[in-house]
Amino acid sequence: MVLTGHDDKYHNWQVKANYIPAILNQYGNFDIDLVQMHDSASVDSHFSPDFSKYKVVVLAFNDVKWTDQTKLAFETYVRGGGGVVVIHEANNAFPEWKEFNDMIGLGGWAGRNEKSGPYYYWKDGKYTLDYTAGEGGSHGAPVPFVVNVRDSDHPITRGLPTKWLHKSDELYGNLRGPAKNIQVLATAFSTKETGGTGKEEPVLFTIAYGKGRVFQTVMGHATAGLTESLQDVGFQVTLCRGTEWAATGKVKQKLPAEFPDATSTLLRKPENL
Ligand code: ZN
Repeated sequence: MVLTGHDDKYHNWQVKANYIPAILNQYGNFDIDLVQMHDSASVDSHFSPDFSKYKVVVLAFNDVKWTDQTKLAFETYVRGGGGVVVIHEANNAFPEWKEFNDMIGLGGWAGRNEKSGPYYYWKDGKYTLDYTAGEGGSHGAPVPFVVNVRDSDHPITRGLPTKWLHKSDELYGNLRGPAKNIQVLATAFSTKETGGTGKEEPVLFTIAYGKGRVFQTVMGHATAGLTESLQDVGFQVTLCRGTEWAATGKVKQKLPAEFPDATSTLLRKPENL
């Protein structure tokens, strides 16, 4: 299930509704239902899907409200072994929903602060849990940045270059959350000169929640007029590999024939768009 239908004022769910299924179809072997919630920030009382029909639910939305019953159904689904993929602004959603924050590990904005959990970043060769008080979530100007793989043994990253240049995107920083059962696969340095944090921020990570597998990519900022990050082959390939892993625990899709390297980006508009 690719789940979308509502967004905040900075992002455009219709763009994601077009791009995400097209990307998954191009690189992976998925049978996709695109599910659109009501485009409304009020509680969507009609939204109560049968999550158990799906191996993985890809979250491409923000600023949505679900009924308690739907939240409970989602918790049961993930705890029982369901997969979840969190794309960019989806980690801003549901700031008050404890179980959701446990699932996503780290999130930003929407009132997140020290009560949400520590900041979490790479420093001096290891991950640091920083309990300093302050808001969760920030980003500088959209700029290209180098993705540094920190775990090449994971099925999602195995065989990919250990560094590649990602096309202009909002590099999320200062994310904070419970960070329980988190495994960071890649980080990127957020430069202060472009309004960033001056820290090596997690950009690809997994979280274990019950028997469920969660994959989060903080990449993928998109508006109606700005879709470069979704055309970036590094984003596309890691999204597809992360989605397969969240669904099955394995990655059987082939390594891509072409991939960006440490100094040059590679863009490709998905077929069937
Ligand atoms: Zn964004």
